[in-house]
Amino acid sequence: MNDELARLKEVIRDSDNIVFFGGAGVSTESGIPDFRSADGIYNMEYPYPPETILSYSFFMQYTSEFYRFFKAKMLHPDAQPNKAHFALAELERQGKLRAVVTQNVDGLHHKAGSVNVLELHGSCDRYICIRCGMEYTIEAVYATDDVPRCSCGGTIKPDVVLFEEVLDQSVLERSVRAIRKAEVLIVGGTSLNVYPAAGLIQHYYGDMLILINKSATPFDRYANIIIRDAIGETLDAAVSQV
Ligand code: ZN
Repeated sequence: MNDELARLKEVIRDSDNIVFFGGAGVSTESGIPDFRSADGIYNMEYPYPPETILSYSFFMQYTSEFYRFFKAKMLHPDAQPNKAHFALAELERQGKLRAVVTQNVDGLHHKAGSVNVLELHGSCDRYICIRCGMEYTIEAVYATDDVPRCSCGGTIKPDVVLFEEVLDQSVLERSVRAIRKAEVLIVGGTSLNVYPAAGLIQHYYGDMLILINKSATPFDRYANIIIRDAIGETLDAAVSQV
């Protein structure tokens, strides 16, 4: 075991106030492509770039086209949690991890058994009627080849934060609070370049910032431990026999 991993293991062993902040890299090991990576979903099958299709105005105007893209590219019904998700769920069970703050919308932390999951960008597992507010599951989307409709006739929208939309303030505030109060902050699978990630990390006042990411981030110089390795293997190794 290398030194950094051994230190990470010690830190986890000694703390009961850990918060994890994760990005797309946490889900790539579950076969879900990184939204912003070149080999991700940025290909030319569609006449608009993903940021356009996944925007609120596009959803409102071209709902059918939105759902065609959404089902093909954003839903991954067969994806399973990986070692990173399971390791974090295990740490929560042990009373060590207080919260998972995630930018991912795939619901895999819940699927792995995590309870306190703060989904900054919402979840593809939840749907809501934009007219009456009725809540639906993913089944409503799979039940039709066209736009899913509420029994009131309203359009059903994924409970995800689209481009042009603001983050859910209560989720954001709970995330800030968890990070501010954390003794240990583990950040993984994100380059920390994209809003709101960078802003959130600035709320951490502790002295044990751990970055697990395959490439460098703007926060590397503030980190106490940096691990450039696969996040699933790293967390699995760090959590086993804590
Ligand atoms: Zn409705």
